[in-house]
Amino acid sequence: MRALSLHPDVVVVTSSVWQTSATLVRGPGEFPESVLVDSPLLPVELDALRGLADSGGFDVRGLLATHADWDHVLGRLAFPEAAVGLDERSAARLTARLGEPQRRLREFDAEWYVQRPSPLALGELQPLPVPGRLELGEQQADVLDGAGHTGDGLLLWLPWAQTLIVGDYLSPVELPSWDETGSRTAYREALERLALLVPAARWVVVGHGGPVGRDDALRILDEDRDYLESGSPPSRGARSTNRTQHATNLAAWDRPAVPIPELEDLPLPGPPMAGRSEGSDGAETAEIMNPPQNGGLSADVRAVT
Ligand SMILES: [Zn+2]
Repeated sequence: MRALSLHPDVVVVTSSVWQTSATLVRGPGEFPESVLVDSPLLPVELDALRGLADSGGFDVRGLLATHADWDHVLGRLAFPEAAVGLDERSAARLTARLGEPQRRLREFDAEWYVQRPSPLALGELQPLPVPGRLELGEQQADVLDGAGHTGDGLLLWLPWAQTLIVGDYLSPVELPSWDETGSRTAYREALERLALLVPAARWVVVGHGGPVGRDDALRILDEDRDYLESGSPPSRGARSTNRTQHATNLAAWDRPAVPIPELEDLPLPGPPMAGRSEGSDGAETAEIMNPPQNGGLSADVRAVT
């Protein structure tokens, strides 16, 4: 695992597996508060991340996942007391396929003989409105639509750190990919949204491949646009893996996305939309709350639409 400080309030760790990025973000101010975005994979990395947060003064109150793929939602293995906040559509995906991240994690662990001290428990999910804003200390992060790679997902723009966290886009090590809830069309639309955001960023934290600087991110963006139009893949990362990915992409080149069910149409294990309320100005607000078994304390992390 590598750790890189992009800013006094932003530290990115990159897992040794799939170069998965996880980002500690601190909202500075008189009462600083922190979130972890996405997660590394290995138990030793999750332990080290916890230590890094403690020693670096990151008081992690909430966990965010850029999307609901299992390798991005492991944060509770490092911070079991923190609540998981994600896009409403990510919450719907996880609710519609209860136990899927746990099953995929068990399969991964079985394949690589990985032992973990405890199983993954996601707790009560905190759906966030997207687009919206997330209050962190005295700062606000913008929560933007990240759907495309999957039918759910968010992008996080941290203006005070000029850092954009994008999830599974703009990877220097893998080709664009989409699951059945995403599509090539939706992926291309996501790239166009990113094209408006990346120029303002100093750093772009990509889901796989660590942080990349703005110029590299723009170059990858152009390559991915070309690829998804022409079908001729850029050379990138491990050749055999990307040959396989390209074949998978071609098989799904014009396949439409399968819609994700609406969260309110799904039976929820807990009270639906916990932590959401109407603010005095009529704006919808959501808080990432700690789960009730830990006292039901608010993490003071709010998303405001
Ligand atoms: Zn991923």
